[in-house]
Amino acid sequence: MGINRYQTGGTGYFCFRKPFAGRFTPHCIFPVSSSSSASLALTPMLWLLYNQAVTGRERGSIRRNIYFREDIAMEYRIALVRGDGIGPEIVDSAVKVLEAIGEKFGHRFVFTPVLAGGAAIDATGEPLPRETVEICQASDSVLLGAVGGPKWDTLPGNIRPEKALLGLRSALGLYTNLRPARLYPALKDACPLRPDIVEKGFDLLMVRELTGGIYFGDRGRREGKYGPEAWDTEAYSVMEVERIARAAMDAARKRRRRVISIDKANVLETSRLWRETVHRVAEDYPDVTVTDLLVDNAAMQLVRNPAQFDVVVTSNMFGDILSDEASQITGSIGLLPSASLGASKCGLYEPIHGSAPDIAGQNIANPLATILSAAMMLRYAFDLSAEADAIEAAVDLALNEGCRTADIAKPGDVALTTTGMTEAVLARL
Ligand code: NAD
Repeated sequence: MGINRYQTGGTGYFCFRKPFAGRFTPHCIFPVSSSSSASLALTPMLWLLYNQAVTGRERGSIRRNIYFREDIAMEYRIALVRGDGIGPEIVDSAVKVLEAIGEKFGHRFVFTPVLAGGAAIDATGEPLPRETVEICQASDSVLLGAVGGPKWDTLPGNIRPEKALLGLRSALGLYTNLRPARLYPALKDACPLRPDIVEKGFDLLMVRELTGGIYFGDRGRREGKYGPEAWDTEAYSVMEVERIARAAMDAARKRRRRVISIDKANVLETSRLWRETVHRVAEDYPDVTVTDLLVDNAAMQLVRNPAQFDVVVTSNMFGDILSDEASQITGSIGLLPSASLGASKCGLYEPIHGSAPDIAGQNIANPLATILSAAMMLRYAFDLSAEADAIEAAVDLALNEGCRTADIAKPGDVALTTTGMTEAVLARL
C-alpha cells in the first residue's frame, strides 16, 4: 500500500492525503502505535474503511499518498489580537503565512480574532475585555500585532491601551520573554556597528525575566535625610530565578548550547542569589556551558563583540535595557520577533515594534517581525521546528534576493508593500 514511515516507535498517525487544488492535503488521520504489531495489522482494515469512503476516481492517487507520521496535530487554536495602527495589516500577513504552512505540512490553524488595546477601548470602553482574556486562555497561543497610538494617549492610566499587554501577560502567567536579535547578512548596511564587528555577524537570544524584580517590588515616597525621596525595591525568589534559568537552558539546547547569565553580583544581593541559583540549575544541564557577566560589562560587550553571545539570561530591568540595545544593533526594528512564555506552552507572540501610527493604513509596514513571531510560535508553542525553519528560510531567501520594504530599502531600491513582502515570503516557502 505504499505506506511511508516518517519515524518509528511511539504513538503516531496514519494520514491519508487527498489531492486538492493540485496539492496533497491531509484528508483523514488515524492515531496508531507504530511499534505494535496490532497497529500494523490494522492497516489493511483502515485502508478498506477508507476505500469505501471515497469515490473510485480518487482512489488511485490516494493509494500513493498514505503515509505515517508521529507529529501530526489535528488543530491549533490561535487567538489573534490585531490591535491598533499597523497591527491589523501585519497580523493578516502572518496569518497568510501560517495558512500556507498548514497546507504544506498538514496542520490546521484555527484563528479567533479578539479585541485588545485602542480598538477594544473604542468598542467596549476597556483595553482588555473579559471575553478577550477568556478566549486567549482557552487558546493554544496568542499572536499580537501591536497596541496603542496617539488617539488614546490622553486617557487615564487605567484605560490606556498598554494596560492590555500587562493584563494579558499576567492572565496567561507569562514570566519569560524571548527576544532573538540577529544580523541578517543581506542587511549589514543597516547595522550601526564598525565594519569589522559586522563582518563577524551575530545571532543571539535574550531571555528576560518578566514578572519579578524591581518593576514589581514595593515602592513609595517618604521624607528622607535630604527631604522628600522615592524608593523602589528589587526582590527575587529562588523559584523565580530557577524557572527563568531553566527556560534559558532549554532554549540553549535548541541553539548553540551556551548561556551567559547577566547580573550585578558585585553589588546587589538579589544578583548573588541569582548567580548561585543559575549555577545550581546548570548542574542539570551538563551539555550547556554557563558563564556570568556583570551588566555594565555586558552592555559594552554587546557593541564590542556581539558574536560571543548565544543565549543571554537576565532579570526584568537588566533585560529591558539590554534587549533594546540588542535590537538596535541589528539596525532593523521591523524584523525582530518576540515570545512571552509561562508554565504552559501557550504564549504571547508579537513583533518588538509598536503600532507605528505614522505609517498605519498605508500598506507599507514591514510584516517580517510578525511573520517571524509566528515562526517562534510554531517552534516554542507547538514544537514544530521544521515548519518554523521553513518560514525563517523563506524570509532569509526573500532578503537575500533583494526584497525590501520601505524601512529597510536603500536609496534606489524598489520598496515592496506589506502585501508584496508577504507574497515574496509565501512564494519562497
Ligand atoms: P513604533 O515601534 O511603533 O515606531 C517607531 C518607528 O519605527 C516609527 O517611525 C515607525 O514607523 C517605525 N516602524 C515600527 N514598526 C515598523 C514596521 N513593522 N515597518 C516599518 N516601520 C516600522 O514605536 P513608537 O512610535 O514609539 O510607538 C507607537 C505606539 O505603539 C505607541 O502608542 C506605543 O505605546 C505603542 N507600542 C506598542 C507596543 C506593543 O504593542 N507591544 C510596543 C511598543 C510601542
